Amino acid sequence: MQTFEIKRADNIDNAIKAGATSQTAQQGADVRFLAGGTTLIDLMKLNVETPQQVIDITRLPLDKIEPSSDGGLKIGATVRNADLAHDERVQRDYPVLSQALLAGASAQLRNMATTGGNLLQRTRCVYFRDDAMACNKRKPGSGCAAIGGFNRNLAILGTSEQCIATNPSDMNVALMALDATIHIHGIKGERAVPIAEFYLLPGNTPDKETVMQPGDLITHVTLPPPPKGSRSLYLKLRDRASYEFALASAAVIMTVNNGKIEKAQFAMGGVGTRPWRNKDAEARLIGQAPDKASFQAAAEAFLKDAKPQSENGFKVELAKRCLVHTLDAASKPA
Ligand SMILES: Cc1cc2nc3c(=O)[nH]c(=O)nc-3n(C[C@H](O)[C@H](O)[C@H](O)COP(=O)(O)OP(=O)(O)OC[C@H]3O[C@@H](n4cnc5c(N)ncnc54)[C@H](O)[C@@H]3O)c2cc1C
Ligand code: SF4
Repeated sequence: MQTFEIKRADNIDNAIKAGATSQTAQQGADVRFLAGGTTLIDLMKLNVETPQQVIDITRLPLDKIEPSSDGGLKIGATVRNADLAHDERVQRDYPVLSQALLAGASAQLRNMATTGGNLLQRTRCVYFRDDAMACNKRKPGSGCAAIGGFNRNLAILGTSEQCIATNPSDMNVALMALDATIHIHGIKGERAVPIAEFYLLPGNTPDKETVMQPGDLITHVTLPPPPKGSRSLYLKLRDRASYEFALASAAVIMTVNNGKIEKAQFAMGGVGTRPWRNKDAEARLIGQAPDKASFQAAAEAFLKDAKPQSENGFKVELAKRCLVHTLDAASKPA
C-alpha cells in the first residue's frame, strides 16, 4: 500500500472542496471519500485504489432515514446497510430493499457498509482486483483479461469489447426497480440524478462507471412513495447460500388487480454491467394475467440482447428462471 494522508471532514462544504482538489480525470482517483471502508480499504491494500488523500465522511450529518415531503423516503448517504435493512418503514413500505440489503455480504460488513459506499462499490472481476493483470477498468488501454479468461461470474448484458464486468451490488438492484434518485452535492452545487442515469455503460471508457465528478459527494437517496397495493420480492441466486455475490438476482415490485397485472417494475443483478432494467419487458406484463406464460415472455424480452462470454452462457437461462420465479412469487398474496 502507498502512503496517503487521511483527514476527517467536519462539514459538507469542506468535504467537497477537499474532494475537488483531485488532479486526475478518473473520477478523482487521487482523492477518495471514506465511508464504511469495506470496498475502499480492501482495494487500497491490493494497490487497485491508490489515493493520495482519504477524507473520512463518517461524521457528516448524513446518517438519517426520514420521510420525504412527497410521501417517499429520504436515506442519508452514511446510513449503514444494516440500519437501513432493519428500519421499520423500509421493511413495511419497501420490503424489496430490506431483502436485497440482507442478501448482501455478511452481518459484520452490513454494520459498516453505507448507502453511498454501496452505490459506488467496485466490480468483483478478479482481474480488476489483481494489479498484475490487464484490465481496462483499472488501467485504461491495458486490455481485458476477462474476455476469454475467467468470466463465469461476469456480465451478459451491457458489455463492450473493453469490459464485461458486473455491478456486484444487491442494494442497487432494488433501488433501480424502485426508481430511486441519487442526490449529489458537488463543487458546482447540488443535483438529483435518477438511478437509471447514474451508472454508465462501459463502452470504450470502463474506468468511468458513474456520472460522479471529482469532489462530488452523495448526500442522500430518495425513494418515491411506495406503490399502493403492490407486492415486492428480491431473489438472489449464488454459488453458496450466504456471503457470496449474485450470479443472477431479481427485484420485483408488482400490483395485481382483478386478475390482471396493473403495474410491474423489476431489475436484475449479477447479469449486467450496471443494475439492469428493461422497460420493454415490464410493458409486456401490463394488462396480462399473472401466469407463467406472461412471466416467461417478459423474461425472454429482458434477456433478448444477452451476449454470453466463454464461461457464463449458463447465466442466460439462470437469469430467465430467476426472473420468472420472482415475478410468479411476487404476484401471489403473501
Ligand atoms: C467480503 C465481502 C463480501 C461482500 N458481499 C456483498 C454482497 O453479497 N452483495 C453486495 O451488494 N455487496 C457486497 N459487498 C460489498 C459491500 O456491500 C460494499 O463494500 C459496501 O456496500 C461499500 O460501502 P462502504 O460504506 O464500506 O464504502 P467505502 O469502501 O467507504 O466506499 C466505496 C467507494 O464509494 C465512495 N464513497 C463512499 N461514500 C460516498 C459518498 N457519500 N459520496 C461519494 N463517494 C462515496 C468511496 O470514496 C469509495 O470509492 C461485499 C464486500 C466484501 C468485502
Ligand atoms: S471485465 Fe472489466 S474489470 Fe474485468 S478485466 Fe476486463 S476490463 Fe477489467
